[in-house]
Order: sequence, then C-alpha cells, then structure tokens
Amino acid sequence: MLFPKQPPPRECAECSACCNVYHIDGLFPESPRWVDCYHQGERGCGIHGHPKRPPACGGFLCMWLDGWGEEDDRPDRLGLVLDYNRARPRIDVVESVTAIEAAPGRSDEPRARARLRELRAVLKVLLVPHGARGLDNFGHELPADF
Ligand code: SF4
Ligand code: SF4
Repeated sequence: MLFPKQPPPRECAECSACCNVYHIDGLFPESPRWVDCYHQGERGCGIHGHPKRPPACGGFLCMWLDGWGEEDDRPDRLGLVLDYNRARPRIDVVESVTAIEAAPGRSDEPRARARLRELRAVLKVLLVPHGARGLDNFGHELPADF
C-alpha cells in the first residue's frame, strides 16, 4: 500500500515531535522516550547540521516528512507522529502504520481522529498513547468504534 505524496522537499521546520516520542540513539547523556530531547528548541533541533547531531535523527523520516498528508498534518500540528511499518523483505510495501501521540490525548482531537479513521480504512493502524509503558509501547489496533 502506498499513499499519494506531496512533491518534495518538505522540511521539519519548527516540528520536533519525534524528538520526544522516541528514545534517541547516539546521545550522551541519553534522551529517553517521552521526554523532550535537551537539544530541542522553539525552532526545532538546536544542533541541526552540527556533527554532534546523532545520525539516527537525520535518518528518521516520519510519514509526513516523506510526503503523506497536508501541511496541517505536520506531526506537531496533528498531534501524531506517523510511521510506516514495512513488510520484510518487501520494504516497498507498507504493512501497517504506527501512530504515536505527540502529547496526551492528541488522538482524541477531531483532525487526528479523522486522519486515523482514513488510514484505518486501508491499513492496520497501531495507536501508541503518549507515555505508554511496557507492551503498550507497540501500540494497539484502533477499536471498531473509534
Ligand atoms: S516528526 Fe516528522 S516532521 Fe516532525 S521533526 Fe520528526 S521527522 Fe520531522
Ligand atoms: S538531537 Fe536534535 S533532532 Fe535529535 S532528538 Fe535531539 S532535538 Fe531532535
């Protein structure tokens, strides 16, 4: 399953939603999941373009940065970081989507709910609540009455 894409380039700009919702590899001291990275600033990453920025940061491409959705679906605006889960070994095939809340309750907002329902119509969607622990970190399929 592939989605229609907006033409590149897109830029993260002020968004740094993924810098909170993931554990960031390659930083010392560590930046754990669900905690703002200490390099985050109001205008995004404070070490963008600096050699200290971990390779994992520059390599991450959320669905929005990859061209999915509209401008208002940028993760800091939508409240969700969306990530493709690709089939192995067919990495050109998207199997499911993981949707991670950028802050508690963001998946309950009308635009986020509408987008999640649209995606659920064509793919399995796994929703990870902000602050999830243990197995909840892998997300749960949206309930039928979502
Ligand atoms: S969530 Fe997407 S758009 Fe936002 S900073 Fe991360 S990669 Fe960029
Ligand atoms: S180093 Fe920059 S890009 Fe990487 S997690 Fe921290 S703020 Fe985000």
